[in-house]
Amino acid sequence: MARTGSKNIQAKLVLLGDMGTGKTSLVLRFVKGQFSEYQESTIGAAFFTQVLSLNEATIKFDIWDTAGQERYHSLAPMYYRGAAAAIVVYDITSMDSFLRAKKWVQELQRQGNSSVIMFLVGNKADLAEKREVGNEEGEQYAKENGLSFLETSAKTAQNVNELFYEIAKRLEKAN
Ligand code: GDP
Ligand code: MG
Repeated sequence: MARTGSKNIQAKLVLLGDMGTGKTSLVLRFVKGQFSEYQESTIGAAFFTQVLSLNEATIKFDIWDTAGQERYHSLAPMYYRGAAAAIVVYDITSMDSFLRAKKWVQELQRQGNSSVIMFLVGNKADLAEKREVGNEEGEQYAKENGLSFLETSAKTAQNVNELFYEIAKRLEKAN
């Protein structure tokens, strides 16, 4: 039953981060509850929608996944224009991808709108034995730059729903 006073919020959510960090896998885990070891690099635009119902609001996410353009370390401004939320993903087994994530954060802070809800995500947390980026390192950087932080695994589903729910709750509060 729809509650009186419940809000419908439509929000554009973008994913940023280096190729291979698991952006598409996180989206597919969230939207379809699936994971593939052989996730193809996305070719062509990838767009998903997903609805989350909270107490006071229904959030409809328009999720923009990159289509391989991140290979060139740049994305067209139209990709993040109008985004209400952004998830910057690195791979905890790759220090390189963490350094690149910092660049993506800077780019977004320069080009995106100032009220965008930003999450830094260290993905592939299931591969702890190959870890190159400490949990504290990610957390510390996020704190210093005003981002929220989580480690996730698209493979085991660790923290994936939590990530999107947390963003939904923030959107509910902000709207
Ligand atoms: P994208 O280029 O950022 O979209 O990354 P993909 O989603 O295409 O994932 C790249 C590779 O990493 C694929 O082989 C995935 O199966 C794998 N992968 C993604 N997420 C995880 C994870 O959480 N754990 C593990 N072990 N592998 C992952
Ligand atoms: Mg992809």
